[in-house]
Order: sequence, then C-alpha cells, then structure tokens
Amino acid sequence: MVPGSRLILLGKQGAGKGTQCTRLSRHYVVPHISTGDMFRAAIKSRSELGNRVKQYIGGGELIPYEIVMEAVVERLDQDDTKARGFVLDGFPRTVHQAETLADILDPVPVDLVIDLEVPTQVVLKRLAARRVCTDCGANYSTDVPPKFDWTCDNCGGEVIQRDDDTQAAIQRRLDLYERRTAPLIAWYQERDRLVKISGRGDPDKVTDRLIEVIDKRRAAGGRHGGYRR
Ligand code: ADP
Ligand code: ZN
Repeated sequence: MVPGSRLILLGKQGAGKGTQCTRLSRHYVVPHISTGDMFRAAIKSRSELGNRVKQYIGGGELIPYEIVMEAVVERLDQDDTKARGFVLDGFPRTVHQAETLADILDPVPVDLVIDLEVPTQVVLKRLAARRVCTDCGANYSTDVPPKFDWTCDNCGGEVIQRDDDTQAAIQRRLDLYERRTAPLIAWYQERDRLVKISGRGDPDKVTDRLIEVIDKRRAAGGRHGGYRR
C-alpha cells in the first residue's frame, strides 16, 4: 500500500496550485481538497452554503473564517481524509485558519508545506489566459485549450473564464494574498514545515520538483496518512 500524506500548497493566484495538487493527489492517492472548488460547487448547486459565499468570491474577498472552517472541518472528517490524509489547496489562507488547522491535527502536524513561487508578472499573464471547467475544475488556458470546442477533456463539462478572473478581482486577491496569506510562509518556516519550490516553467518539471522534495521528507521519517490517531 502507498503510504498517505498530509500536504499543503501555498502560492499566489495563478501559481499553479490547482494543477499541481491534482497531480499530487493522484500520485500519492490522497484527496485533493480545494476550498475554492468546494465553494464554486456550492454556488453552482445553489445550496445554502453557495448563497452565503457568492458575494465574497465574486469580489475576490476572503470568505469569513466561520464559514470556511465549517466547510473544511466537515471535509476533513470524511473517511478518505482520515485514512489517507490530504493535499490542501487554498486553505489555510490566514494565520487564524492555520492555527485552527494545527489544533485539529494535533498532535501530528502536516508532513510538508510547499510554497510554489512564481513572480507576480508571470501570474498576471497566466490569470488573463486562464480558463476552467465548471464541472471538475480542471485548468486550461487560451494557449492550451481543451481538444474540442471548450469542452473539458476529462469530464465533458463547459470550460469558461472564472467570474473572479476580472482585473479588479484579480488585483484584490493578489493584494489579500500578500497581506493575509504570505505571512503563513514565515509561520510554517518557524515550525520547520516549509519548503520553497519554483513554480516557473514546464508543469511536468514542476511536478517532478514537488515529488522530489515530498519523497525526501517522507524518507526522513514521520507519520504519513490520515489524521486520526
Ligand atoms: P484563487 O487562489 O485563484 O483566488 P481559489 O479557488 O483558491 O482561487 O479561491 C477562490 C475564492 O474562494 C477566494 O477568492 C475566496 O473568496 C474563496 N476562498 C477559498 N478558500 C478560502 C479560504 N481558505 N479562506 C477564505 N476564502 C477562501
Ligand atoms: Zn471537467
């Protein structure tokens, strides 16, 4: 059996977290937990949660702590996560969220937090070209579109530009990233969990770099997998 893993990816909007987390999730056979995907699915299904978060997402604002934690706690409590662990994408996004996550996981911390580094100039270009599948969240771009007419290669869903990939919302999200999320890099560094990896260049090469550091950390020991003792 492949041992599980408990991973967090940090990085600006457009750094490639979604794409890389999907690959890591397959490689290590752990659920990919993307809070953005969870909230977008809730909006699409017109659920009560969807109604509560819609305005925040559209404007590029952070969703209030209580709403985020309720959704994340419920997801972490499912069997796949408890057995295998997770790769977290878009959470934690504030020090407050990170502190609560550490409490939930206590006494076993996450295996590794990876900061996927990409310069702002590059992410701005990527975000302008970004297109996503409304059903499975797969990422495409105007440079690398789906094979057939903006229909997702994976699931046949419709591939569109995200509502919050407007100039104003992108600017707001990048600004919030610097102010609220970037401090997590030092926070995890102090706890000896953090590794920085360049997110530039060929996505396959980025994946190779990620797997290399994760495997190194796994070889160095520690507990792998779910979070219930
Ligand atoms: P991006 O990183 O490109 O902004 P995400 O899909 O990660 O996209 O998140 C989209 C939106 O969902 C965010 O702008 C925010 O409104 C909301 N969101 C996602 N995760 C969180 C979180 N952990 N805390 C607060 N809001 C969140
Ligand atoms: Zn799809």
